[in-house]
Amino acid sequence: MLPVWLLDIDGVINAVTDDPDTRVWPRDQWVRTSAVSAHGLEWPLLAARPVLEFLRRVHDEGRAEIRWHSTWQSHAVNVGTALGLPSWPVAECPEFAESDAEIASPLVVVRHRWWKLPTAQRVIDDGRPLVWTDDDARHQLRRRDRAGWDAWALVVAPPVESGLTSRQLRRIDTWLAQRESW
Ligand SMILES: [Mg+2]
Repeated sequence: MLPVWLLDIDGVINAVTDDPDTRVWPRDQWVRTSAVSAHGLEWPLLAARPVLEFLRRVHDEGRAEIRWHSTWQSHAVNVGTALGLPSWPVAECPEFAESDAEIASPLVVVRHRWWKLPTAQRVIDDGRPLVWTDDDARHQLRRRDRAGWDAWALVVAPPVESGLTSRQLRRIDTWLAQRESW
């Protein structure tokens, strides 16, 4: 089965910083642009060219079905357009509408499941291998949340201020290659 890649934006392809870490990607590899987010806000974007190229390649070679999974929701397509990425669908996530309280209060997050989790679980339940790139997975995804996922899922949590690193891209590349021989 073709893996599904749930792709977050901020902290994954958009480095959340004004000053990109040139130890992660060289200075001339960073692209600055912007995209319209919710409420018509023009949101700055800072993305590394190698990350964008990797995503394009995975898409073009049909190695995974990429879906946006981000608080950007339907506005994610604006990010894709601004960064010259292929047109990807937004992962279905009815739980997003119920997530406002969690975003408003970090204390609530402790008691509730992460709103992004059910979408990921549904990918696994559909029998599809899952790549999930989200900087928040580091502190939002608990061990018991991913019980039974084992080899079915690769969860990658990039550093929020740089987004995906070359090492993480290699990890994803290797994992996808292994799934191709399943
Ligand atoms: Mg994020």
